[in-house]
Amino acid sequence: GEIDFVYDVARLDEKLLINAFKNLGVSLRLINAEELIAPEGLGRVGVIRLAARSRVIPTAFTYEANGGISINTAQSLVLSHDKYLTYLRLREAGVPTPRTYLVFGLEAAKSVARRLSYPVIIKPTDGSWGRFVSLAKSVEDLETVILHRQAMESDLHIYLVQEYVEKPGRDIRVTVVGERAVAAIYRIVSTDWRTNTARGGRAEPVKIDPELEDIAVKASKAVGTYYSGVDVVESERGYMVLEVNGVPEFKNVQRVTGVDVAGEIARLVIETAKK
Ligand code: ADP
Ligand code: ZN
Ligand code: MG
Repeated sequence: GEIDFVYDVARLDEKLLINAFKNLGVSLRLINAEELIAPEGLGRVGVIRLAARSRVIPTAFTYEANGGISINTAQSLVLSHDKYLTYLRLREAGVPTPRTYLVFGLEAAKSVARRLSYPVIIKPTDGSWGRFVSLAKSVEDLETVILHRQAMESDLHIYLVQEYVEKPGRDIRVTVVGERAVAAIYRIVSTDWRTNTARGGRAEPVKIDPELEDIAVKASKAVGTYYSGVDVVESERGYMVLEVNGVPEFKNVQRVTGVDVAGEIARLVIETAKK
């Protein structure tokens, strides 16, 4: 049967994916978000490649409610969109991850920061591209960050306070497809402790060792994604998972490693669609 490909911005990642399906001889029905009308008229299998985060979850649930398949699954997208829900899953699955606390207020934030000891990271549960991820070196920093956030109209009064992981100026993005880590890159930043490539970092290929593959695949399974982008930091205590992206960008991974990541994802989708 046909596979729906639901997108809005059509970044290079989406173009690579569309091409990969074409090369495998599979016809996609391209659904531009501007034209989407839910819940009727959609196909049985939907590849959700929407860049606008708020559109992802309702679209995924629609495919499943219609008895079809959403890739990734609606539940895994809910979990991966929320760093606290992801943390709960990683913790349950025994995947190493920085110690993290959820707080709603300043006093609670101060109390857990004392427990973790400074510096600490303060981040929203649902951000991306490193936005609003802050480093607090002192209680004064912590107060500044939280009071600033609370003064914002959009603030939800939900904060994660997390152990700061001393890392070697880089972190690792692992692309997991099914049960395999297919490719990984270092994201190297000299000017910012946030190593998102969206912040202008440099990327280099990573030779995936069994430990890295194991932790990345376990993280992906813990949130239930068919494929994902797992952010890993190298701490003094070994690899730790920061987050699992359920609509991952992979163009940098593909460019830097030469691995046909789009082809791997397309093959997995085709296999899954047969079930
Ligand atoms: P986002 O979804 O915005 O990418 P992340 O949790 O991945 O949020 O944080 C963005 C970046 O900030 C990470 O790639 C990492 O470089 C840095 N960072 C986040 N949390 C920590 C932490 N606990 N310790 C050290 N660096 C961190
Ligand atoms: Zn993210
Ligand atoms: Mg990240």
